[in-house]
Amino acid sequence: MKRLVISNLQVKDNTKVQGFLPVPGLPEGFWPGFFVIRGKIHSPILTVFGGIHGGEYSSIEAAKQLGQELLPEDLKGTLIICPIANLPAFFSRRVFQNPLDDKNLNRVFPGDPEGSASERLAYHLSQNLISPADIFIDLHGGDLVESLIPFTLFPPGPSFEIETKSRSLAVQFGIPRAIKAFTAGSAYCWAANNGKPAILAEAGQQGILSEEAVKLLKKGVYKVLLNQRILTEEAAFRFLSKKEPEDNPGVRIFLEEDWEKSPASGLWYPIISCGSYVKEGQVIGEIRDLFGGLLATVEAKHEGVVIFLLTSLAVNEGDSLLSIAHSAET
Ligand SMILES: [Zn+2]
Repeated sequence: MKRLVISNLQVKDNTKVQGFLPVPGLPEGFWPGFFVIRGKIHSPILTVFGGIHGGEYSSIEAAKQLGQELLPEDLKGTLIICPIANLPAFFSRRVFQNPLDDKNLNRVFPGDPEGSASERLAYHLSQNLISPADIFIDLHGGDLVESLIPFTLFPPGPSFEIETKSRSLAVQFGIPRAIKAFTAGSAYCWAANNGKPAILAEAGQQGILSEEAVKLLKKGVYKVLLNQRILTEEAAFRFLSKKEPEDNPGVRIFLEEDWEKSPASGLWYPIISCGSYVKEGQVIGEIRDLFGGLLATVEAKHEGVVIFLLTSLAVNEGDSLLSIAHSAET
């Protein structure tokens, strides 16, 4: 009998377990919980995260439901699922940041065992839950002040082989937009830099637990499991009503993504909506002061599709206002 050892947890073949990941220096109530579902055939290993951002509820619910639904007999491989990676942010309802150190967990991977709360969390998540994996999927769901249309991100590089495999995962996931994007310190880019094909999938918005977004994210993970031959045919039929992968799920690839930052602090009035196609130079919103005076007019820096839009009235100088996906492959 072979065993997978994750932190203090030993997992035998053909079993399902759940436990908590010790993070020294972090209060025990904030140690992330995780499932391990290990088939009789126990490789490859795929790790799924939800809730790196604590208000992205659809990603959390999708990961949690996957952990509940899947059984060892459904798999020809192993699934590690962490539904809420960032419990301090989740319980404080803090947008993007961990309240214990005011850091964005998805900017500090691979972390530091002697660092701040987010750095310690990132270190133990990366070493114990991502490192054993062959493939990594990070689920996100639009934080409390984010409106977005669903998309997947795949990292550029670090080699042609890893980029190609990551891109294939994004296509297999099946959301119609896949964008090549690098984010320093993110879990998915760290995984790719360590030789694991990886994607970030995003669906849901504004702190709403959306059944539609949960279904989309779960379906994407099931499609990847089917394409990677990790899901048994019987399970594929049960969860996807089919046994074979789709040849062409109709995913459009964008080669660039650009964020626009707020030039001022004040009140934010976007005049376009998420999913809009904008032209370069098009006015997309205004920032006004407390008396209604105009502080800045914001124009699109690129022609492309708005995939993310800040929806809070309050804005600080340097905050991300929106993101435009562009340079689509034809
Ligand atoms: Zn997120």
